[in-house]
Amino acid sequence: MEQTLVLLKPDAVQRGLIGEIIGRFEKVGLKLVALKLVRASHEEVDRHYALTEEWMLGVYTKAKTKYDARGEAFPFADHVAYGSEIKRGLVEFLKSAPIVAMVLEGEQAVPLVRKLVGATEPASSAPGTIRGDLSLDTYALSNGQSRPIRNLIHASGTVDEAKHEIPVWFTDKELHTYEHVNDRVQYDAKWFLS
Ligand code: UDP
Ligand code: MG
Repeated sequence: MEQTLVLLKPDAVQRGLIGEIIGRFEKVGLKLVALKLVRASHEEVDRHYALTEEWMLGVYTKAKTKYDARGEAFPFADHVAYGSEIKRGLVEFLKSAPIVAMVLEGEQAVPLVRKLVGATEPASSAPGTIRGDLSLDTYALSNGQSRPIRNLIHASGTVDEAKHEIPVWFTDKELHTYEHVNDRVQYDAKWFLS
């Protein structure tokens, strides 16, 4: 079954939103297979956010598109300049207070969790999503204050990203196997026949 990695960032923990957010994952039918409150080390956050060309291009393109749409000049030269600056701020942010790390398991868990989480910029996240319902930050405000967007949560973007991220936070022994009612009700072909 597919697994995905979620981090509740310091803003989620310090705003008392841990239960609200985990509750949304439980209610959709995902199985929690690992969970911890952790004060992250520099090394853990550094490994988690791999500074790849693809990631730098992604953050640069998403942010620049918003500036372009508003007819505003984007204040960074290129994806390397922007990506490095975002990563530097993120590492400091994630180390600044405890975060919650968890692994969720279920049918297409990676895209399902991304759907529940919403878009990177809270102000553009759809209502009903975690970021859309519970946060309001913008690229303009966060870049104006030279800090990362306060968007509550990290969720793996792809199955490969999840495979890279899960071992950063959990050992094999911390990933639990147990029976959940959804193993029968959602996934067992013979559930109502037996
Ligand atoms: N981020 C930011 N400004 C940006 C792009 C990203 O502060 O212009 C931060 C934000 O906290 C985001 C994280 O970097 O959640 C990782 O960026 P990514 O593009 O992977 O977004 P996500 O997958 O979290 O939606
Ligand atoms: Mg991402």
